Amino acid sequence: MRTPAPQPETRVLVVEDDNTIGRHLDAGLRGHGYATTWCRTGTSGLAEARTNSQDVVLLDLGLPDTDGIDVARTLRAEFPDLLIVILTARSNEIDVIAGLDAGADDYLVKPFTLSVLLARLRAHLRRRPTGPPQHEQPVQLGDLTVDITARRCLLAGQEIALRPKEFDLLAVLAQHAGAAVSRETLMSQVWDENWFGPTKTLDVTLASLRRRLNQAADASPLALKLPEITTLRGHGYRLDPAQEV
Ligand code: CA
Repeated sequence: MRTPAPQPETRVLVVEDDNTIGRHLDAGLRGHGYATTWCRTGTSGLAEARTNSQDVVLLDLGLPDTDGIDVARTLRAEFPDLLIVILTARSNEIDVIAGLDAGADDYLVKPFTLSVLLARLRAHLRRRPTGPPQHEQPVQLGDLTVDITARRCLLAGQEIALRPKEFDLLAVLAQHAGAAVSRETLMSQVWDENWFGPTKTLDVTLASLRRRLNQAADASPLALKLPEITTLRGHGYRLDPAQEV
């Protein structure tokens, strides 16, 4: 499986007072396509985050001017969607717990390798919604409307009740309507970022999703256009915009 490249516009703010580590992170992330900014104090880090919007903050806990925990708490309060990864030299799990409680999403204990950091970032960023979710337009596929923001699925205006995973699966397929979506992508986006196990649950959920859509179409007195979910053997699935039923 190919390793997905980060989005070119993914912005990472490094808040780290140690010159060697800071330089290493700044240059290393930049070399892997991230747009990085490096601040050496909590105060300048907060100022930078408020001035230029960030996707990720890598936050050292032992800063010269403020406690990293307080910086994490402030960042979380002001930027609910920000991915915050705390970096701690202290192998004290109390710090990790305090950091996570303050709103950090993840942590790395120093020393860590750039490869591990990159893998963690990829895993987190894969799960992030692309674009501001509150502005996401419903996807219209024939007579089927998939409103991802509201988590509603409507057929000719009538709501179809879907289970959470059925809806998630439909949402990913609808966002890629007309394009093949691999089993790996579906498993990672709908179930778990680190899924290495059997994927039968995908087929079961997909069959159930198909059944619910067809039942809703059959129950309607109208001749409706329903998108078709095509099975691509050895690859995954594709949602084809609309078929007469
Ligand atoms: Ca430090």
